Amino acid sequence: MPEIPELEAIRGYFNGHIAGRTIASAEARIPVVFRTPAQVIRDTLPGDRFGEALRHGKFLLFPLASERVLAINPMLTGRFQYVDPARKIPAKCCLALGIEGGRSLRYSDDRLMGKIYLVGIGQLAAIPNWTTNGPDLLDPLLTGEEWLRRIKKYRGQVKSILTNAEFVQGIGNAYSDEILWEAQVNPYIPRTKLSDDTLRHLYRSALAVMAWATPLVRSSMIKGDDLDYEERREFMRVHRLGGKPCPRCGSTISEITANQRITSFCRTCQPELPA
Ligand SMILES: [Zn+2]
Repeated sequence: MPEIPELEAIRGYFNGHIAGRTIASAEARIPVVFRTPAQVIRDTLPGDRFGEALRHGKFLLFPLASERVLAINPMLTGRFQYVDPARKIPAKCCLALGIEGGRSLRYSDDRLMGKIYLVGIGQLAAIPNWTTNGPDLLDPLLTGEEWLRRIKKYRGQVKSILTNAEFVQGIGNAYSDEILWEAQVNPYIPRTKLSDDTLRHLYRSALAVMAWATPLVRSSMIKGDDLDYEERREFMRVHRLGGKPCPRCGSTISEITANQRITSFCRTCQPELPA
């Protein structure tokens, strides 16, 4: 599932490549992902022009000259490409936009769980959960003290809170493991057992992990001048590395699967009781 580092890397790429460019053609190929009728996409996107891409939580936002926004939530398996249109089209390519200059912006989704909206710039709040979700982790208004105030409203296990979009948006299963490893906090500890200082440290660790991962993701998804994002996270230090040595202490990384989620952590660096 793309999280902040993937979406920030994709956003940065598109700002360098499509901002200011006109959409020449629009193919809505697999209607199930469209929350705006596919016919509207096909009929009204050609001729429109991209502005600066933005990100909000797990949404990539493409503001358009028509004062509309193409908002894409790639959910579990969404994939973006910006390639020559002659390149083979993935089987589950949902949206293909021909862009002035010749290349094709594609959104593909193997499990078809992603969602694509085309809404007026003032209508983003109509997207489900938009107004009930918490701030984006990278929102400048989310300070360490605001993080602390918000996290104290939750009493569950700390990993579940980090991945709860009502608390803060943009952190998923993979990077929550990395953040907790960075902070040396056990994923299963109830929030109520953590001190204010540890909770502040967790915030700094979350920012540090995003800043560390984003350039690594960027270099893995840009090939020549094309973008071809597929989830590859060879650089991870703990997530899905069960059985491998912890890069900090050398102990074997533990991996637990529950509720169809994999949690990886180091029992030595991330003990069950806070130190
Ligand atoms: Zn360790």
